[in-house]
Formats: sequence, C-alpha cells, structure tokens
Amino acid sequence: MCVWLVRVQLSDPVTLNQSHPIGHIEQVTMSEPSKLRLHVGDLLKRFGSQRSISEAISLDDLSVGATRVPADAEIAIQLQLERISEGIVARGAVSARWASECARCLQPASGPMFISVDELFESEAVAGETYPLEGEILDLEPLIRDALVLELPQAPMCRVDCEGLCPECGIDRNLQTCTCAPEHLDPRWAALQSLDLDQ
Ligand SMILES: [Zn+2]
Ligand SMILES: [Zn+2]
Repeated sequence: MCVWLVRVQLSDPVTLNQSHPIGHIEQVTMSEPSKLRLHVGDLLKRFGSQRSISEAISLDDLSVGATRVPADAEIAIQLQLERISEGIVARGAVSARWASECARCLQPASGPMFISVDELFESEAVAGETYPLEGEILDLEPLIRDALVLELPQAPMCRVDCEGLCPECGIDRNLQTCTCAPEHLDPRWAALQSLDLDQ
C-alpha cells in the first residue's frame, strides 16, 4: 500500500513557458506503490533541465530482521532531478524513522534516518550501480527502498547508554539493579584478554 501526498515544482525551462505555471502544486491520494513512477519526457528533451520533488509517502515491506520502517510511517523525499548527458541524476535526501527492539534490553526502540541521495538513472542501467530509465518513465521506488534498507541500524539501541539485561539473572539493568557477580568470561576470550595488544 502507498498513501502519498505529492508536491511537484516544475522548473524545467521548456515547460515553464507552456501550460504549467511556476510552483504548480498537486495533492493526490493514491493507492498503488507504482505511482512513484514519474513521467520524465519533459526532462529528457533538454540537458540541464531540472525538476524538484517533495513528497511524503509510506511503503510496506521495508525491514531487515526485526528492524523496519513501519508501513504507516512517513517517508519524506526531497529530490532534485536533473537531465545530464548520461541520463537523469536524482540528488537530495530521504528521511524516515526506523522501529525495532533494542539489541541490549529488548525494549521497543526507534530513531531517525536521514540519507543523502545522489544516483543516476539511465536507459542502460548497470545493476548495483545505476537505476533504469524505462523509456520516459523514472521509477523512484527502488532508489527509496535501497536508501532506507541500507541505513537501517544493524544493532538498534533504545538509547546510546542502554545498560541491557543482566546475563546472569535477566533483569533489565535500566530499571533495576541486581547483585550478580561480574559476567563470567569465556576462557577462550580470557586468553585473548591477557595479551597486551599495545606491543
Ligand atoms: Zn535498550
Ligand atoms: Zn543480575
């Protein structure tokens, strides 16, 4: 599912003189994720032409393990598209909040992500390096998904100084204290710890 609000500003010199006024604003509610597909025929006509894109959308299926961008969370997209000789460059930022459980205390955790984007769309895309232009259609969804999934934290924490769970009795050390002895060291690690790595 994809619910979104679109605010498109056209600054392409070709279209400004035609039917689109400066600052043309559309607000559309859509139900298909494929609507991230933009028609860019106007940009392709002239090198250097640009289009600003400012959108708030949501996307489902954005997760790695328990860490995810919730399907109802807002994903903010601020991009500038520019026609260059190789194709169309998309520069700007994608931001959203991730949600997960804390890797130390297992309580709910969440935090912000802000990702800088600078990617090329071209008709002969190179897998893993550039994104495809399908004729006059530029689909932003793969770019948005890649940017967010790569930025999801691998060891999410509820806060930077989370005390975690006691490995002996299991209490949440953020909330309670216990009298357990310091953690038992695995003898293999104890041997490593006795090495002086500064020499
Ligand atoms: Zn925690
Ligand atoms: Zn304990």
